Amino acid sequence: MSEQQQFDVVVIGAGPAGYHAAIRAAQLGLKTACIDAALGKDGKPALGGTCLRVGCIPSKALLDSSRQFWNMGHIFDQHGISFDKPAIDVKKMVARKDGIVKQFTGGIAALFKANKITAFYGFGQLQPGNVVTVKQHDGSEVALKATNVILAAGSDSIELPFAKFGEHIIDNVGALDLEKVPKRLGVIGAGVIGLELGSVWKRLGAEVTILEGLPNFLAAADAEVAKVAAREFKKQGLDIKLGCKCTATEVKKDGVHISYTDDKGAAQELVVDKLLVAVGRRAATKGLLADGTGVQVNERGQIVVDEHCHTGVDGVWAVGDCVRGPMLAHKGFEEGIAVAELIAGLPGHVNFDTIPWVIYTEPEIAWVGKTEEQLKAEGTPYKAGSFPFAAVGRAVAMAEPAGFVKVLAHAETDTILGMHLVGANVSELVHEGVLAMEFKGSADDLARICHAHPSLSEAVHDAAMAVHKRAIHKAN
Ligand SMILES: Cc1cc2nc3c(=O)[nH]c(=O)nc-3n(C[C@H](O)[C@H](O)[C@H](O)COP(=O)(O)OP(=O)(O)OC[C@H]3O[C@@H](n4cnc5c(N)ncnc54)[C@H](O)[C@@H]3O)c2cc1C
Repeated sequence: MSEQQQFDVVVIGAGPAGYHAAIRAAQLGLKTACIDAALGKDGKPALGGTCLRVGCIPSKALLDSSRQFWNMGHIFDQHGISFDKPAIDVKKMVARKDGIVKQFTGGIAALFKANKITAFYGFGQLQPGNVVTVKQHDGSEVALKATNVILAAGSDSIELPFAKFGEHIIDNVGALDLEKVPKRLGVIGAGVIGLELGSVWKRLGAEVTILEGLPNFLAAADAEVAKVAAREFKKQGLDIKLGCKCTATEVKKDGVHISYTDDKGAAQELVVDKLLVAVGRRAATKGLLADGTGVQVNERGQIVVDEHCHTGVDGVWAVGDCVRGPMLAHKGFEEGIAVAELIAGLPGHVNFDTIPWVIYTEPEIAWVGKTEEQLKAEGTPYKAGSFPFAAVGRAVAMAEPAGFVKVLAHAETDTILGMHLVGANVSELVHEGVLAMEFKGSADDLARICHAHPSLSEAVHDAAMAVHKRAIHKAN
């Protein structure tokens, strides 16, 4: 091993959390290195983590392609547009997705260069005394000495012991790279990834059955939002079976046989051509820490940190999916920036109460803050105002009338406590709620802000007005 190189900050992992930390640290004048082990589909190093390679961005590329295809068969007719039978070239669609991934992973490499961040391509391991060793892809090993180390190792798909990944049983990586539309797609898990990737292949013509263990659909979302979403998914032909416990799988000539017990406890079998296992993700901390570093890992494999993402070991921090909190790219962005700023002596901070959640299905689902169920359970007095997209001119003009916006405000102070949305483009609209909550805004504040007409945001405006029973476009 060559002589140790010295850095102010060494980041392990160049996913959303790690690259944000590295770039912000470099902006603040700190000598920074970032290590990442991942390779792209072409076998070359690819920065950007799960998010850019096999997560947020490629899934949205396929969601958009499949949405265009679905609309041709289901929406265009309403606009008076007709054409011969629509066809999908899956290889071309996946190649488009790969092009987008390459553009963005390459973009991170360019940003590292522009910010004078030294990139190391290989597997990093924290040693005692803030030394990081890197086994590089060319077989060589280097050791880096750092004043501060930021662990941003991210997460991997959870594999079920009775459903090992292979050609027919796949995770997100496989589901983003299918070469043709499977006739029958099974999905274990009706969470964000199962719903999004299930939707992609359903829209392209697969028969999709989703088996979910919990008795309630989208238990983390507001119950009314989940109900509307379930109704819309059913209309689209997504078969979501709740309260199902999968117990075994067997790959046979005619497909993957999945044994499960249904919500009444009866034994059932489902046969599919491909099975997507989307039961969650686990912190990718295996091999990250050498003996004696003092960094604690909990029973879920997550690195233990305090509210400032500090591990308790001098100069060692951890951010993103490998620590507690929601496994969301933007949560990692904020933690990465906050830690870089704390290292530089600035007051870095993440407000966990205003992290938006989005599911990019059709209709989209989004929320920020507390649900009605949470407010009731904690005994917080609140008022609710909601407004349907069916009464919003722009939504109807777009042929997207499904869904609604709901604003929850404190019954006495009127402070906004939550915003829950299901409908077209709510991934963008939810940020009105985020912004209002960050500034401790009230429902009345939001109601008095002029919103452009006609726009989908009028649903947010009227929902805020409905909190005080003064919505204009519906009976209060
Ligand atoms: C299909 C799918 C869709 C998703 N969609 C969304 C979405 O729409 N919005 C959203 O907010 N989130 C989404 N997510 C979640 C999001 O991708 C993650 O929350 C995010 O990528 C976590 O960022 P991270 O930086 O913590 O980790 P990661 O993105 O996992 O990056 C960690 C990086 O560290 C590298 N690494 C790990 N250990 C080492 C080591 N020891 N040495 C060197 N390198 C190492 C890994 O190779 C990886 O590149 C999605 C996830 C999936 C799977």
